[in-house]
Amino acid sequence: MGTKKLLVIGGGAAGFFCAVNAARLNPQLEVIIVEKSNKLLSKVRVSGGGRCNVTHSCFSITEMIKKYPRGHSFLKKAFYHFFTTDTIQWFSERQVTLKTEADGRMFPVTDSSETIVNCLVQEVNLYGVQIILNKEVSQLLLLNNQWKVVFANDSNLVADYVCVASGGYPKALQSEWLQKLGHTINAPTPSLFTFNMPGNSITSLMGISVDNAAVKIIGSKLQETGPLLITHWGMSGPCILKLSAWGAKELAACNYKFSIMVNWLPSYNEQSLKEQFQQVRFKFAAQKIVNRNPFSLPLRLWQYLLQQSGINESIRWADLPAKEQNKLIKNCCSQEFSISGKTTFKEEFVTAGGVDLAEVDYNTLQSKIVPNLYFAGEVLNIDGVTGGFNFQSAWTTGFIAAKAIAGSF
Ligand SMILES: Cc1cc2nc3c(=O)[nH]c(=O)nc-3n(C[C@H](O)[C@H](O)[C@H](O)COP(=O)(O)OP(=O)(O)OC[C@H]3O[C@@H](n4cnc5c(N)ncnc54)[C@H](O)[C@@H]3O)c2cc1C
Repeated sequence: MGTKKLLVIGGGAAGFFCAVNAARLNPQLEVIIVEKSNKLLSKVRVSGGGRCNVTHSCFSITEMIKKYPRGHSFLKKAFYHFFTTDTIQWFSERQVTLKTEADGRMFPVTDSSETIVNCLVQEVNLYGVQIILNKEVSQLLLLNNQWKVVFANDSNLVADYVCVASGGYPKALQSEWLQKLGHTINAPTPSLFTFNMPGNSITSLMGISVDNAAVKIIGSKLQETGPLLITHWGMSGPCILKLSAWGAKELAACNYKFSIMVNWLPSYNEQSLKEQFQQVRFKFAAQKIVNRNPFSLPLRLWQYLLQQSGINESIRWADLPAKEQNKLIKNCCSQEFSISGKTTFKEEFVTAGGVDLAEVDYNTLQSKIVPNLYFAGEVLNIDGVTGGFNFQSAWTTGFIAAKAIAGSF
């Protein structure tokens, strides 16, 4: 049978997962990870605020794929090979226990990303995976059925298999070496960002969060509900981040200048809220409107909505003029804001775009264009919303590539 050599490009989550599993599954495979920087697993280390949100406690493939704005059809098939349950088991077999938070995100019980880093490094040592740091791959050449991997300093290595796990490239130019192999690269755009609202008075409410708001991007079909956080530069929180992911392409196209409509009370629309107001006015007639906020909105937000509707806080519910009431209803259900610019979400951000999935086999992660070339992780045109979905995609694609390579000779 003889030995064969696998060169993994990129020392991130996907590269490590591919390398350690391939080396474990076939001892005849010599595995090398080449990393352009002087650091390994740097995103794993900082991920999830230093806690690493490894995966999500979602055990239905149908539900899971709804979390990926790009790549859901591909992952639908790939998840049959390696899913969230497999991730949990894989780490558990290596003494890393994961816990689930109320919103479904899964973290190591230690609450430290070092646990995940240490586990992966331990596997590298156990299976003799070699690591080469400070080497940037600049070209891949297929010569006589072998890969000549050329580095930026012109040195090179020869390998039988190559797995590209080089992560998301924010600039199209960075993917040129992949394009030269004949692969189509979907243009990169950032995903998972927050909305800037420079000079808007709502930012004076920074720090206030609403458990459930509905936000719509005006002039599009994009709409999301969920927790919303007001920040000193605009709006953030799961509802906004989900919108940024689903709207990554559209919002980039308008240069992040657009308008949103916020419904602070998503269980109502203007009509049903008007009906509710009749009851509230009757029930709390003698009470001051500021003291009797009937919808459990944070007090400062309620005061802001009153102010925006031209309502004197000390007015009693019974005395609220019809015109002001209509303004308040509109502000509660369909308040408009202008957005200008975005801010990177510190906890997690990804690049949408990458290697076109039609050119990759989901059963093996092998290129359909060039033999013995594999892909894993964010370099592919796959990205998820926040919650551990991006790492799950890295584990899944890394594992499938490893298994296919290890089993191919
Ligand atoms: C701050 C932050 C927090 C995050 N938190 C979470 C989280 O909690 N949960 C979650 O699911 N996702 C999270 N993500 C997203 C997640 O980290 C990525 O989706 C994931 O790391 C992608 O893994 P990867 O191995 O494909 O790419 P990367 O982790 O980006 O690794 C790619 C590696 O390849 C190297 N490389 C690139 N080009 C070359 C080349 N030509 N030659 C050699 N080496 C090369 C790079 O230097 C890099 O080390 C977070 C992202 C960020 C930025």
